Amino acid sequence: MRTTPPRPLEVTCPNCGETTVYAATNPFRPFCSARCQGQDFGAWANEAYRVEAPPSTEDQDEAQD
Ligand SMILES: [Zn+2]
Repeated sequence: MRTTPPRPLEVTCPNCGETTVYAATNPFRPFCSARCQGQDFGAWANEAYRVEAPPSTEDQDEAQD
């Protein structure tokens, strides 16, 4: 019986592009570090919560005289 040592799956960090291990030993997977994980999430959150300001209603208020 042949035994092959389990090969850790390697992925590319979505933030910095470094090769990192995608395994239980890496709690930040698929990122390489907590820093990259935090940065990517921050960017995502920024994008998700970015809302366009509604148009001003000043013109309507002026009609109220
Ligand atoms: Zn990284």
